[in-house]
Amino acid sequence: MSETDLGAIREAVAKLCAGFPGEYWRALDRERRYPTEFVRALTEAGWLACLVPEAYGGSGLGLSAAAAILEEVHRSGGNGAACHAQMYIMGTLLRHGSDAQKRAYLPKIASGELRLQAFGVTEPTAGTDTTSIRTTAVRRGDVYVVDGQKVWTSRAEHSDLMLLFARTAPRSEVAKKTEGLSVFLVDMREAQGRGLTIRPLRTMMNHAATEVFFDALEVPAANLIGEEGKGFRYILDGMNAERILIAAECIGDARWFIARATEYAKAREVFGRPIGQNQGVQFPIARAYAATEAAALMVERAATTYERGEPCGPQANMAKLLAADASWQAADMCVQTHGGFGFAEDYDVERKFRETRLYQVAPISTNLILSYLAEHVLGLPRSY
Ligand SMILES: Cc1cc2nc3c(=O)[nH]c(=O)nc-3n(C[C@H](O)[C@H](O)[C@H](O)COP(=O)(O)OP(=O)(O)OC[C@H]3O[C@@H](n4cnc5c(N)ncnc54)[C@H](O)[C@@H]3O)c2cc1C
Repeated sequence: MSETDLGAIREAVAKLCAGFPGEYWRALDRERRYPTEFVRALTEAGWLACLVPEAYGGSGLGLSAAAAILEEVHRSGGNGAACHAQMYIMGTLLRHGSDAQKRAYLPKIASGELRLQAFGVTEPTAGTDTTSIRTTAVRRGDVYVVDGQKVWTSRAEHSDLMLLFARTAPRSEVAKKTEGLSVFLVDMREAQGRGLTIRPLRTMMNHAATEVFFDALEVPAANLIGEEGKGFRYILDGMNAERILIAAECIGDARWFIARATEYAKAREVFGRPIGQNQGVQFPIARAYAATEAAALMVERAATTYERGEPCGPQANMAKLLAADASWQAADMCVQTHGGFGFAEDYDVERKFRETRLYQVAPISTNLILSYLAEHVLGLPRSY
């Protein structure tokens, strides 16, 4: 997509976001409420359907467009975490689902009638070691019976469907630990009270995180995505898109922090001159700016590599690592530049600071990206 087209997207999204200023996000944050009105506005404007092909009612845009949309949401002071997954979780269904599944779900996901924005992978005992998950799905006739527990399932209370990752063959019966894992589309509207329980988890920031429990939940066999036992590969290829889009959100956050810090450093006078006249204040802002611009180039590179359909694991991971580091550096700098006011709710700086901290840990922690680069790109011995 051309720079002009991306510019037009950014402008339109910025205009929509102007209707949801700091006061809006602050009030939600205080009460840990879901941004229903904001998500509705983004849905109605069609932005959350940008990656759904036109044949299924979406706008069929590439990942660069999705990245521009989410970056703009964050650059304007908002938080796309409430709904970003509606953009990319459907990618697994699109790439690996049957024609019948795609026809049944994608048009409704594109229109927003169905929300597919819950992704159940992480479990309390397995942690980052995804192949050690204990949630099982056992075939009984034309259903799978699911038992187990997920943790940190974002947006489960605000989603109609969940993409669930479960073990369909015991670890002892498969040659490799990555085998015997499968992906299902769970209709949570039908499942609640019939074997599925959702419990909200209160977190440092307003995130709609939950724990999800499965107790003999019956999922129709028709809701298995792709082939049984091959699910690990299916979720891996969706993760690159997720990392690139979250990296774009981090760039948006970093740009918001830099803009706020610059503005404040020009206006705030102490000792009879603007604080921004001191190099001790200027340099951290300039350093954060340079780190952000460099990370933004890697995000752009990762998105275009992904769009060409080429392997993009190294680029997607480096984009996530560098962008999350840039936003965290900018966040810390912005608090420092604001002095005491960096801690005041009314300035939004402390809220954004809490929000952007997440991306050092989720959807993949910095250490695991470094391990990936060391092992898979540099050929160093596997460390775990
Ligand atoms: C707010 C929030 C929302 C989330 N949303 C979702 C969601 O929607 N769906 C979902 O499935 N998951 C979700 N997650 C889970 C998230 O992906 C995990 O928290 C993350 O991948 C880290 O896993 P963990 O918490 O189990 O940490 P652990 O795996 O227990 O790791 C703990 C720490 O140890 C480090 N570590 C672990 N192993 C190694 C190693 N071999 N080498 C070096 N360091 C290591 C990690 O880097 C980390 O810092 C969410 C998490 C949060 C906090």
